[in-house]
Amino acid sequence: MIVVMRMGASEEEVHNVVRHIESLGFRAHLSRGEERTIIGLIGDERGLSQHTLELLPGVERVIPVLKPFKLASRDFKPENTLVQVRNVVFGDKKVVLIAGPCAVESRTQLMETALAVKEAGASMLRGGAYKPRTSPYSFLGLGEDALRLLAEASEATGLPVVSEVMAPEAVPVVRRYVDMLQIGTRNMHNYNLLHAVGEAGMPVLLKRGLMATIEEFLMAAEYILSHSNYQVVLCERGIRTFETYTRNTLDINAVPTIKGLSHLPVIVDPSHGTGRWELVEPVSRAAVAAGADGLIIEVHPRPAEALSDGAQSLTPEQFARLVKSVRRVAESVDREV
Ligand code: PEP
Ligand code: MN
Repeated sequence: MIVVMRMGASEEEVHNVVRHIESLGFRAHLSRGEERTIIGLIGDERGLSQHTLELLPGVERVIPVLKPFKLASRDFKPENTLVQVRNVVFGDKKVVLIAGPCAVESRTQLMETALAVKEAGASMLRGGAYKPRTSPYSFLGLGEDALRLLAEASEATGLPVVSEVMAPEAVPVVRRYVDMLQIGTRNMHNYNLLHAVGEAGMPVLLKRGLMATIEEFLMAAEYILSHSNYQVVLCERGIRTFETYTRNTLDINAVPTIKGLSHLPVIVDPSHGTGRWELVEPVSRAAVAAGADGLIIEVHPRPAEALSDGAQSLTPEQFARLVKSVRRVAESVDREV
């Protein structure tokens, strides 16, 4: 249930409702909008009376939330959430471009890429340190050495960094070096990991599970939000379908659908969504036209030599062209790049 306070309800009234909710054994989450405060009740609602809550001073109405996700829903928070990662803001007018290699391979590879994507207009750097590969014999990432290089590249370019964390016990080490924690598609259902990044209290990039429905995706976000960590950016990265020509089927429907259901920013990964470098630019344009708040794109100075995902990686020159072409689409939908 959510409790919608009257416009101009006093702090005292808000606190009184929170105290009341907590005394009933629920947790109260506050969403302070420009016009009114909304209080979300988290807990098992069976046996709770909507009408009793409506009698409390300052309460305008109490609404049962029928969707299984509550804190992630627009019912709880009608305004868009802005997620800030250092100087970068997701969910505002500017479409955020995150770019960098699939995996950090060496200092030269990372620095070369980081400087080039910055020059081309990216505002964040990506790079895998721990790689979730289908085969255990593939390159699995440089681990903490890669994290150190990412921090170095961030320092040199001023770009905030996002990198994947694969296990709850790795959160303390990854968070020491990066500005945003990435949950990869294979771990979207790893509930212990979702709890851990929720508790970390820092920005999270949550990728959609490759076989997850939109509802399951939003429930995964709910895990993080339930720790009062509201700095969550959702990423559509393609789902598995019968089509094999492309690596995944990018679900463009998910972008406006989730923007309607949730207040959280939504970005798109056209690299993993297609698996083919030549599709990355046209699909990026489609994503921005559909309302995406950002793009995350794999870039490698020499894709043919990449240790992972070379087939879907752009060269820095191709990325620079993509930025220009996406910019025109962004302007046509009243956004900026
Ligand atoms: C990645 O972004 O490096 C990655 C492995 O993506 P996904 O989890 O979407 O496959
Ligand atoms: Mn990759």
